[in-house]
Amino acid sequence: MNCQGRVSPGTAVVLLHGSHGQYKTLLQNSTEWHCVPNISANKMAPFSCSSDQPTALQEKFTTWQCDSVMSQGKGRGWMCCPKGWKRFQKSCYFLSPDKMSWVESEQNCTGMGSHLAVINSREEQVFLFGQIKQPSRGENFYIGLRASSVDQWQWVDKTPYNVSATFWRKGKPSDHNDENCVVMYRDSELPNNWNNVRCLIYHRICEAAAVTV
Ligand code: CA
Repeated sequence: MNCQGRVSPGTAVVLLHGSHGQYKTLLQNSTEWHCVPNISANKMAPFSCSSDQPTALQEKFTTWQCDSVMSQGKGRGWMCCPKGWKRFQKSCYFLSPDKMSWVESEQNCTGMGSHLAVINSREEQVFLFGQIKQPSRGENFYIGLRASSVDQWQWVDKTPYNVSATFWRKGKPSDHNDENCVVMYRDSELPNNWNNVRCLIYHRICEAAAVTV
């Protein structure tokens, strides 16, 4: 993320839109922040920047939702996700309204600077379970787990497939050799909602690291 005085045009920097008065209003109301290309240094909000290179996620989105958080050793800061994404701990998630194949889903996530969701903990699983349970959500959501051959499960980001941190539904994964993709299935019992399926078209959950400022 670029910092005061050296903002390059078009860079995805988490900045506030408008005057200092709007800054306060935004913080008090929804904490919605905007990326403003070509902003002049004197309009920049007074917060520090965490790194010099914007992440792929930062480059793709211009409107952000930020929460005030206590970060270790740094005092109070902000954690930001693109508007419309959900933040949990240090990740942002996008739950798609549309459906695609698994490969297209992963490509779509990558195109947004993210990847299909990788489940690293029970807490993350429970959070996402709660998200897909919400009314108006779809029934099946791809996550970033796929089998290259029967029982060879692989996460998209090369996280080792850890049997102790899996959340298969009862009787799953089935050993049908054409059911190599994994969805979270809405109507399951907490927390086990993974289902291996044929790689047809389903919704998707994309995940990216939240932006810290
Ligand atoms: Ca994760």
